[in-house]
Amino acid sequence: MDEILKKAQDAIKKSEKLMVFTGAGISKESGVPTFREAGGLWDKFKVEDFATLESFKKRPVEVWEWYRMRRDLARKVEPNPAHYACAELDNNHEDFMIATQNIDNLHYRAGAKRVLELHGNLFRSYCLECGSKVDESQADLVGEVPECVKKGCKGVMRPDVVWFGEYLDPDVLEETTRFASECDCCIVIGTSGLVYPAAQLPYLAKRNDAAIIEVNPEPSTITAIADYFFKEQAGIIMPKLASN
Ligand SMILES: [Zn+2]
Repeated sequence: MDEILKKAQDAIKKSEKLMVFTGAGISKESGVPTFREAGGLWDKFKVEDFATLESFKKRPVEVWEWYRMRRDLARKVEPNPAHYACAELDNNHEDFMIATQNIDNLHYRAGAKRVLELHGNLFRSYCLECGSKVDESQADLVGEVPECVKKGCKGVMRPDVVWFGEYLDPDVLEETTRFASECDCCIVIGTSGLVYPAAQLPYLAKRNDAAIIEVNPEPSTITAIADYFFKEQAGIIMPKLASN
């Protein structure tokens, strides 16, 4: 274990283009309920009832209630040592990117700057009419179904998250796939590796001969291509991997 740890540390330290790819597992360690766990009182609904454009158009009030409930849950938790370790890597690597499948804002709250959110951000919304984006991390917009703040628009705001049947932001997808194809080290944390197209990132890195480091409590589909696999909580192993 210690020897593998040392080798993985070295791969990170000497990396000239470092990518960190995170999924639900890293947030779970902070206590963020997964999409499906967030149900609670809402169990009579299927999550799909809140996560399609079609359902939003039919029942915008309920969909907004659901997302505000999820915001409340996400605001109550704190970044964990793995998030802080990622922020530290951001700090001491010149060419760096975090690509995350999470929408909970925890990488930013831990102090990371170069974060690309593949599936959007729970605390941001955009106007269905004009596309204007609003950061709601400090305060929610008012109104059961908030209206666009742009003068004269009056469009309906929706959560800036990727719903079922929707495409990822093409700019984010392009930037992350390019970075993955060019990086020399890729740390994969807490993702099942099943949700495409995000899940292709480690494979693109591997094709470029990048060192693949995986941190997961259970093996995943990525494990087969990992050079170093740590079957461990991210909050325990990441601070060690990030330490100089
Ligand atoms: Zn608008």
